[in-house]
Amino acid sequence: MAIQTIGVIGAGQMGNGIAHVMAQAGYKVLLTDISQDSLTAAVSLIEQNMARQVGRGKLSESDMSAAIGRIETTLALSDLGATDLVIEAATERETVKQAIFEDLQPHLMPHTILTSNTSSISITRLASRTDRPERFMGFHFMNPVPVMKLVELIRGIATDAATFDACKDVVDRLGKVSATAEDFPGFIVNRILMPMINEAVYTLYEGVGSVESIDQSMKLGANHPMGPLELADFIGLDTCLAIMNVLHDGLADTKYRPCPLLTKYVEAGWLGRKTKRGFYDYRGEVPVPTR
Ligand code: NAD
Repeated sequence: MAIQTIGVIGAGQMGNGIAHVMAQAGYKVLLTDISQDSLTAAVSLIEQNMARQVGRGKLSESDMSAAIGRIETTLALSDLGATDLVIEAATERETVKQAIFEDLQPHLMPHTILTSNTSSISITRLASRTDRPERFMGFHFMNPVPVMKLVELIRGIATDAATFDACKDVVDRLGKVSATAEDFPGFIVNRILMPMINEAVYTLYEGVGSVESIDQSMKLGANHPMGPLELADFIGLDTCLAIMNVLHDGLADTKYRPCPLLTKYVEAGWLGRKTKRGFYDYRGEVPVPTR
């Protein structure tokens, strides 16, 4: 069955990006959140981001208004029961996600596919608590969603081929590229990226280099578009720490031990760009290294 309507749960950083690209690709989108303020902010951010695409000649004004017209918002999670595909992009906490799927389940149509945009929680475990583990999988977008090409598609142990194919078709229609990952901690991107970021924090912690020299080394020496510490600030240091903990716990290998300096920054509430301070201080005109 072809997917026509998509429910997006959580209107934060990722949810608004997902709603944006889905509406632009022609899907009807129903976006929900527990906060009306988040819904209002998400729609206005989507409008701003699409207007920027119009300004750059990447989207026509009429396609923009048609896309905006395909997005509806609701505070009632149960309304998403009428959609063909649900993408959950709420806060990264397993109890939150479990409660969402539990509350949604009685309202679902039999064919509805459930997916989660989780960065690190086991898809198989989330799926096992629903009535449809075969129609459940991971749909992992990268941040910022309208810009990043990749979507990781993660099969749980029970995910069936029709579900996987339906999700892959959606990724194709978005003009993005999918990579298939099995359901192990961190999937592919974070399994490789986060230990590199964590190692950059160890390099700083052990005094091998300063924030600036570490970032510059990786930009100019390895051709990375952003240095690892700059990237950590962009992602959020709390998110980086949470993913390292998932790798450490799930793979039980000391090589994934989060750097104590990363923990210290998170304990200080220095979470990166979102709190205006992390490995850099963003309160002034230009970012200033904090070490
Ligand atoms: P965020 O904090 O920006 O947004 C989360 C939103 O979920 C908030 O608006 C919050 O109000 C809402 N929410 C919380 N509980 C809810 C509920 N019960 N029902 C409906 N909405 C609820 O977080 P984010 O960065 O957008 O992350 C969302 C998901 O995407 C997480 O699972 C995260 O791991 C994943 N992810 C994040 C990134 C990233 O770089 N930020 C990248 C890939 C995947």
